[in-house]
Amino acid sequence: MKERLAINGGSPALPNGLPGAGGGPGVSLMDDREVVAVAEVLRSGRLFRFIEGSHVRAFEQEAAQWIGVEHALMVNSGTSALICALIGAGIGPGDEVIVPAYTYIATAAAVVAVGAVPIIAEIDTSLGLDPADAEAKITPFTRAIIPVYMQGVPARIQAIMDVAARHGLKVIEDACQCIGGTYRGKVVGTFGGAGAWSLNFFKVISAGEGGLVFTKDYQVYERACFASDPALPMWMKENIAQEGWETQPFSFQCYRPSEMLGAVARVQLSRLERILEHTRSLKRAFLQALEEPRGYSLQHVDDPEGDCGISAAILVHDADLAARYAEALTAEGLPCGTAHNEGFPDRHIYRYWDSILHKSAFHPNASPWTHPAYRGNVEYSPDMCPRTLGILNRALRFGFNMRMSAEHARQMAHAVNKVDAAFAA
Ligand SMILES: *Cc1c(COP(=O)(O)O)cnc(C)c1O
Repeated sequence: MKERLAINGGSPALPNGLPGAGGGPGVSLMDDREVVAVAEVLRSGRLFRFIEGSHVRAFEQEAAQWIGVEHALMVNSGTSALICALIGAGIGPGDEVIVPAYTYIATAAAVVAVGAVPIIAEIDTSLGLDPADAEAKITPFTRAIIPVYMQGVPARIQAIMDVAARHGLKVIEDACQCIGGTYRGKVVGTFGGAGAWSLNFFKVISAGEGGLVFTKDYQVYERACFASDPALPMWMKENIAQEGWETQPFSFQCYRPSEMLGAVARVQLSRLERILEHTRSLKRAFLQALEEPRGYSLQHVDDPEGDCGISAAILVHDADLAARYAEALTAEGLPCGTAHNEGFPDRHIYRYWDSILHKSAFHPNASPWTHPAYRGNVEYSPDMCPRTLGILNRALRFGFNMRMSAEHARQMAHAVNKVDAAFAA
């Protein structure tokens, strides 16, 4: 049954709109527990991670246990976590690392930071890395693949692991937007050599800033530790170095997080189950209320069970129609736009990663692209991943947040149903 669209003067599907997110799910739940945790750190005067009773250390242990890995290292950001993971896995100058064309620029920037060359591969209708295109972009210089789990949705992890296994590549998982997501029953980030979380303002849980690198492999962990703090081998010596190091300690940068971040992160981790329960229930309510789609298909989700439920995306059949859907949905009280539109330079889309496309380095002699160890020859251009742009031109994404109820989710679905029925008749 067709209802009159709000854009044509009908009554909107969401007459009161939607409650604002107020940051990521974790931030929107912050209350006195986080405040007290920080105040206690300050009162204690113990503001260094290598002092007895460290919250950073406790967070690492609690997170490792939650994830199901032996080792976790907290750092000051998700970008730092990716850098430490790459260094942990032995990636460096001369190496190529495959990244998806749709991810936050930090994924590619982390590759450049370790002196390696990012290779940009297409996404598919999962909005994650297309395993076939990743495989097609492998060269003799490729050493690793970084799948990214955008907006809480695990990508085609098994297929990517299969590609990596066939070619002897490492996998570093960018789970910055997918904290707590699972794939076939295992927490994402535990499939490859290392995983990374970001705890910035927008993520599933947050300490304002912060990151975590985690792995089952002690050697990766040890190298990540060296990469994160030049003095760390001295600090760690007492407890873990009696038998010596597996790798000769090296010095790199300093990504040491503050004890206040550690204290907040612990409180946030304790909220993770409740966050996922709520966001997943919202997404389920949304999906259940959708009618049979006519003018669109849903984003492919390989394992819906493991989806964090913080977003849903529809792929409208063509780009012009998608723009019309977006306009009509916004009028219904469900603000949205196509993921890629010329007016808005989204740093999650490769064509806006100017520093990468221009192969800019902080110093001309430190460029990964002209490093003597690099024998490859990659060319970038804004149009190099047309399938990715084609998909993002048709993609409309909706977020679910902690202030929404199941009724909001059903109203969102109602808006989609209304617009779809009106336009695809
Ligand atoms: C947020 C994010 C990062 C980096 O996180 P920061 O904490 O901001 O450094 C990396 N990759 C993806 C996909 C992200 O969304």
